[in-house]
Amino acid sequence: MTGFGALESGGLAWCEDGEVVDLSGLGDMFARPTLNELLAAGPAGWKDAIAAARAHDGRRTPEREARARLPFEVADYVDFYSSLEHATNLGRMFRPDQEPLLPNWRWLPVAYHGRAGSVVASGTDVVRPRGQRKAPDDDAPTFGPSRRLDFELELGFVVGVPTKLGDALPVEAFADHVFGVVLVNDWSARDIQAWEYVPLGPNLGKSFQTSISAWVTPLALLEGARVEAPLQEPPPLPYLAGGRDWGLDVALEVELNGETLSRGNARTLYWTLPQQLAHATSNGAPLRTGDLMASGTISGSEPGSEGSMIERFRGERFLEDGDEVVLRGRAANGVELGEVRGRVLPVCG
Ligand code: CA
Repeated sequence: MTGFGALESGGLAWCEDGEVVDLSGLGDMFARPTLNELLAAGPAGWKDAIAAARAHDGRRTPEREARARLPFEVADYVDFYSSLEHATNLGRMFRPDQEPLLPNWRWLPVAYHGRAGSVVASGTDVVRPRGQRKAPDDDAPTFGPSRRLDFELELGFVVGVPTKLGDALPVEAFADHVFGVVLVNDWSARDIQAWEYVPLGPNLGKSFQTSISAWVTPLALLEGARVEAPLQEPPPLPYLAGGRDWGLDVALEVELNGETLSRGNARTLYWTLPQQLAHATSNGAPLRTGDLMASGTISGSEPGSEGSMIERFRGERFLEDGDEVVLRGRAANGVELGEVRGRVLPVCG
């Protein structure tokens, strides 16, 4: 895994080649409890920080023994829905009598606003949430533990440089504002989600917890993994045109209880990360340092490349108490993203 993180013992750290280097002796910005000051430093500061981290002779710990915490204070959290295959698969299951893609899907990167306060770092257990569930044949909902707990495999990006209220960023400004990427597990309670999501989108079925990598991989390290994104039809409106050279060839894997459950690739995303950012700011909503934006579940077109359990098992199997999910990603240039690990605990009480 390669990237910057924050140690439980305090201060920042750099992870690469299986080792974690303590950067707290590298100056004030690196002695902080989170990456936020580094995030705000901008592209020139990020470049210097990577060089300094790689050259630093700090205390070294094997990667598997390092204790890392949530790497940055999450400002806002927006979750998109950018995989054509995932949106199609889920549309078929949630609205079997309609066209799977709603009319807006190919015109804009659909998203919902999540809860920043329940974003946690890899290694944090997830407690099975309670909520309202109503099966189609039930007369009325009941309240209790989710029976359809799921994971979602996603790629997220972390905003460094903020914008002012009223500013709209063009797709070309992506690398001037975005510091790096993390893998994201958007834990989802499908029964709670299916009952609550109409008409305003997901809420409590998602907001109980979202897990991200403990290591944020700088965007600069993924230059060698950039590819042309899939063709968009119809062509997007002018403010979303461009950013097609920011497809990312990152091989993705989901492991369940030690066995590979699916393999996909972030390059299949229909809406690219720069298009997501441009859309999120197109109405003038400001960016804040620490904003987390995630791609939405990444599913491929082949069987075995599904990014969620509901797709992989067609709604017939979900997460059980004690199950452990691990998300992994490796870019085509060999850079490994920080894994996201989490175990399901039974609802307490
Ligand atoms: Ca999601």
